[in-house]
Amino acid sequence: MKIGFIGLGNMGGPMAANLAKAGHDVVGFDMADVAIEGVALVGSGAEAAKNADVVITMLPNGQILRAVANEVIPAMNTGAALVDCSTVDVESAKAVAQQAEDAGLLSVDAPVSGGIGGAAGGTLTFMAGGSAEAFAKAEPLFDIMGQKAVHCGAAGAGQSAKICNNMILGVTMIATCEAFALADKLGLDRQKMFDVVSTSSGYSWTMNAYCPAPGVGPQSPADNDYQPGFASELMLKDLRLSQQAAESANADTPMGEIASKLYAQFVENEDGLGKDFSAMLPRFEKRGRP
Ligand code: NAD
Repeated sequence: MKIGFIGLGNMGGPMAANLAKAGHDVVGFDMADVAIEGVALVGSGAEAAKNADVVITMLPNGQILRAVANEVIPAMNTGAALVDCSTVDVESAKAVAQQAEDAGLLSVDAPVSGGIGGAAGGTLTFMAGGSAEAFAKAEPLFDIMGQKAVHCGAAGAGQSAKICNNMILGVTMIATCEAFALADKLGLDRQKMFDVVSTSSGYSWTMNAYCPAPGVGPQSPADNDYQPGFASELMLKDLRLSQQAAESANADTPMGEIASKLYAQFVENEDGLGKDFSAMLPRFEKRGRP
């Protein structure tokens, strides 16, 4: 397949490289100066999209996605597919899907979970929204870049699934960190805390797979001085997207709202910017009751 890949950053770069390694003809564009193994670079998004069977975007946010879509959609051939793997707001995802459909294209919103390691290893999970035909066209590429792809429903459903998942992630990380800080103050050994909770009803991905306490549980960013991993500002971005969606859908999400406020405080008023989102633990350690 001829693939145009736009946005070759931490995630997009290795994803594009994996498609090229699998034998696809990949033409890429990024605003920044990048070099990706096996990917031929061109000077604009429109050029990357020209004659492509599938155009994949992996961009920072919905505003940038909309700008790129305005440029790329008119350059694509009828029947080609636009697959956006960025994490963006549900409204932007739906607007771009409509624009693509109006232009005679297939479109899929397909955000991912699995981080930079998953992108490099080809083990991402894709959560996709769009027609069955569009999903079927993108699925062989998801199989190369990832280990699982779930067709969640119509346009926007992939982004809806992603922000619900990440709202749970933000809330459980905070709960895990505040529980560790409480355990510390109660004089509990951290390893014992892990041994109990990781095999009891308080277990979660944040405790068992991504433990925020250094030296406890499997290797995680906590063991590397909280270098990301998944940066706190990206967690904040996703929590804000879930609150934006909750507001427009009239859903009551109080825990998501508190998580969003705590990450905003951490990133904007404290020292969280650039640190992994599990650095909430040292933040809580330093504090007493407000
Ligand atoms: P990144 O900042 O490393 O990459 C984004 C790339 O887009 C950059 O290289 C940038 O130069 C490029 N870009 C920006 N505007 C552009 C434009 N107009 N035209 C062409 N290129 C442009 O970010 P990332 O970590 O690769 O994340 C990309 C997306 O994936 C985000 O939406 C993020 O929320 C999501 N995501 C990231 C992770 C993660 O762990 N990093 C995990 C899951 C999802």
